[in-house]
Parts: sequence; C-alpha cells; structure tokens
Amino acid sequence: MLTHSIINLLGIKDKHVEIFDSGEEEGVFWFELHTRVKMQKCPKCKSRTKRIHSYRMQKIQSSSIAGKRVYLHVKKRRYRCTTCGHTFYEKLSFVDRYQRHTLMLAQEALCLSAEMSFTHAGMLAGVSTNRLLRMFDARSIPVKKVLPRAIAIDEFKGDAGGEKYQTIIVDVENREVLDVLPDRRVKTIETYLKQCDTGNVQIVVMDLSKSFKKAVQRQLANPLIIADRFHFMRQAYWAFDQVRREVQHKLYKEQRIRMKRNKELLWKSPFKLNQKEKERVEELLALDSDLREAYELKNELDVWFKTSTMENAKTGLEAWMTRVEESGNEAFKKVVQTFNRWKQEILQSFMYPFNNGYIEGVNNTTKVIKRMSYGIKSFERLRKKILWRQLIRRNVG
Ligand SMILES: [Zn+2]
Repeated sequence: MLTHSIINLLGIKDKHVEIFDSGEEEGVFWFELHTRVKMQKCPKCKSRTKRIHSYRMQKIQSSSIAGKRVYLHVKKRRYRCTTCGHTFYEKLSFVDRYQRHTLMLAQEALCLSAEMSFTHAGMLAGVSTNRLLRMFDARSIPVKKVLPRAIAIDEFKGDAGGEKYQTIIVDVENREVLDVLPDRRVKTIETYLKQCDTGNVQIVVMDLSKSFKKAVQRQLANPLIIADRFHFMRQAYWAFDQVRREVQHKLYKEQRIRMKRNKELLWKSPFKLNQKEKERVEELLALDSDLREAYELKNELDVWFKTSTMENAKTGLEAWMTRVEESGNEAFKKVVQTFNRWKQEILQSFMYPFNNGYIEGVNNTTKVIKRMSYGIKSFERLRKKILWRQLIRRNVG
C-alpha cells in the first residue's frame, strides 16, 4: 500500500514497476525500481516474446520531493525476440527514450519556464538551464493555421534572431496570440499569410505601418483595415511631447527641471487633474504659447477620440485637422499628414468595438516575457516562449 503511494508520488503509472529499494543520501532521495516480466511485442517482426536478454541500470532524475532531488535507478530489462532474434528494451511510460529525466520532471520545469526565465525555472525544478533548454527546444507547440474573422498585426521590440522588431499576429475577438514572426518585413508577413487559411478574415487591425498594409492588401481578399486606436492616438502624444521637449530645452535650469519633473501631468487628461495639479499645469503652460497650443491640440484630439461616434467621427476629425493646419504647429502638422494617409482606417476604427485594450495587453505580455527571458537571443525560443506561456495560462485559467 505504502509502496503504491510512493509509486504514485513519483508519477509512475506502469503497473509492472515496483520499488526494490530506497534511501536518502546527502539530501537526495533515491529509489531503485525493478520491473516485472511482461509479454512484449517485438518492434521489428511484431512477434510476442517474454525472453529476457539482459539488464541495464539507468539513472533518471524525477521531480523533487520536499525540496530534495529524487533519482530513480531503474533496472531496465532487455528482451530478445525468439522469432527474429532482435533485442530491445522494454518501454516505460514515465520516461522518454534516451532521456535522463522523467516526463513529470520535464513537464514541471517547462511549466515553470512559462512564467519565468529558464535559469530560474531550472533552479526551482532542480535541472540545469541547458537541460531545460534542450527539453524546451524538443517540445513542439501547436499553432492555428486557420485564421479567425478579426486579426491584429502589431510589432514589438523583441531583439531576437538579429532583428530588433518582431511581428505578432493576434486573434482580436478571442484575445489570443496566433503566431510570432521573426521581423516586420512585407515579405515575412506575406509568407505567413500565404501559409494560413485566410478565407475567414474580414477585419485586420494594425498600426499605421505601410508594410503591414501592403502585405495584407496583397494576400487577403479586401478585408476591412482598421487603424489601431492606441497607435494612432500615440502620434498626437508624441507630437505634444516633441513640442514639450523643444520648449523645455530653451528654458532656464530651474524651470527646465520643473517641466521635466511634471511631464506626466502634462500628458494626463485635464479632466483627471485635481486643483493643485491644474495650477501646476497652468504655471508650465504660461511659460510658452507654443506649448499651450500643443497642449490644447492634444486634448482636443483626446476629447474627439473619447466622445465620437461612427456618425460624427469624420466631421470631428476634419475639424481638428483644420485646427492644426491653422495653428502651424510643425509636429502636429506631421500627425495630420499621417492621419490623412490613414483617414479611412482611422474612421473605420469607430465602426467596431475593438479597442486598443487587447493590443496593449499583448504589448504588456511581450514586455513581461522580455523581462523574464532577458538574453533570449534565438528568435525561435522567444516565439515558442510567448506561445508556451499563453498555452499554460489558458490551461490553468
Ligand atoms: Zn522479432
């Protein structure tokens, strides 16, 4: 009975495996396991045999128990086929051929690696980083090749495989990463789309990237392209910040430091400021009329963004763009140029309730992964790690 519980604890489901001996030495648990004779099927000629050829002791690491490492010394039985003479080792369900760790240990280490660096996961599971990496590389992760109704294409700074940026393909409605591509080139995205079944794709959400648009237009049958809200709104914030930095540069030291310290206040929506913060912002704006104008342009676009509907988004955007032209602000005029090129896609974003929330979520995920896996140079590992983390999270959650 007790033996049975230990066998279970070790994650062994083979009925013909028994504990022959066990002990603890220098903080390590060891178990000697023997197997009972079992009718075998010759892998070569499929004849049945029970003839024993020889034995071999195999040392296999198993999952830690109470923080201590566990080693299994398995007396593996080699059978001989009486029909064809072929000799072969019996199969054990808890360890893969040629491996020196149990499947349970591999699973444990791999699950840990979904949420932390390989080094840390290896340390916790009691396996070396190199061994964990070999386990990880050997593991295949399935990816969906039939694309859903709405996909998003976005880039992120993954710094892997010699490329600074990687591309991520997302199922917008199911909030799922579909795949990660090695760079953000038109050709790479086109090749990916070609490999997939894209018959269902009707909507593509993307940032304001020419190459994404080109790839999508070439490979997909005229989908509705929606500019991602987070990405186009960011342009206005960047423009404002450019003005802020230019103004800041011209200031005397004391004022310069004060503006730098309060830059987050300037980014914030004025509706969210308390009285004291409002006064501080007013002090800064009073320093420069260009800054005040840029601040107003940013806030006006923000109001347009938050209050517009499908019916009035176009009028509102055009009014804002005219305002910018009249202001003569160079940074914002560049934003208007971009918005003009992407006007249709920007306005189409009001037709669908896909907000930036998910993409931001994905960006945060990749940021988390980046932090956890700092130093992952191989693109394939980075890609697999993103997909692996998602798989584990979905199975747990
Ligand atoms: Zn045989």
